[in-house]
Amino acid sequence: MTYDPLFKEGTITMLAGPCSIEGAEQMEEVAACLERNGLHWIRGGAFKPRSSPYSFQGLGEEGLRIMADVGARHHLSTLTEVVDTKLIGLTMEYVGGLQIGTRNMANFELLKAIAAATAENHMPVLYKRGMAATIDEWLSAAEYLTMDGNPNVMLCERGLRTFESATRFTLDIAAVPVVHKRSLLPICVDVSHPAGQVDLVPSLAKAAVAAGADSIMIEVHPCPAQAKSDGAQQLTIAQFEDLLRELREIAAAVGKTIE
Ligand code: PEP
Ligand code: MN
Repeated sequence: MTYDPLFKEGTITMLAGPCSIEGAEQMEEVAACLERNGLHWIRGGAFKPRSSPYSFQGLGEEGLRIMADVGARHHLSTLTEVVDTKLIGLTMEYVGGLQIGTRNMANFELLKAIAAATAENHMPVLYKRGMAATIDEWLSAAEYLTMDGNPNVMLCERGLRTFESATRFTLDIAAVPVVHKRSLLPICVDVSHPAGQVDLVPSLAKAAVAAGADSIMIEVHPCPAQAKSDGAQQLTIAQFEDLLRELREIAAAVGKTIE
């Protein structure tokens, strides 16, 4: 099995898709948009790490099956979060890339298990920064993921918990040049979770492209008002396509394409 890498020189990898996989129709609409725009990845959560046990927990394996089917038909690689060591094997049967969420940045047993599971096949891994972790802590822990031999690890800045409450999390845009200076690993910027609201997403995404991000993550939903999680921050398909056009102009100015 060969996987589509998350990092390609000269390219910004777009990781777009809904917060949660909610059904086949929802995923179909998003996937069709991504394919017609020449993008290669779709994201979606199947096992959601929700702060409340009463919130939507995700469709589980059924969600993975839906995303795998939609991804195959639209020629898209698929990315989803793994929340527990017990789910690594199952998840790897369905997806093209694994995400480690902010709440699991320091779950070292999960990191070791993912490193072991991807040691030979080199499945891409997107590793989010803990919302209260320093860059040093994050880079140090990233070595758990690479130490068994998987070179396809990408970091992802997704905002920090600070005293500021005007945004959901404080996006540390400086993490991009700092990581480029201190690490050989590429870096993605998730612009949706720090924004928390749709109207802030475009500015954060433009800043991430201009700052030199190797990848951008954006949550997109056909009908955000009905989303089962993170509705306030998800772009409609039309909003996403408008933003993508603008981002492509900025990417061109820094000598990159968005794929
Ligand atoms: C996500 O990307 O689906 C997610 C839950 O993000 P984070 O771990 O950054 O909160
Ligand atoms: Mn989300």
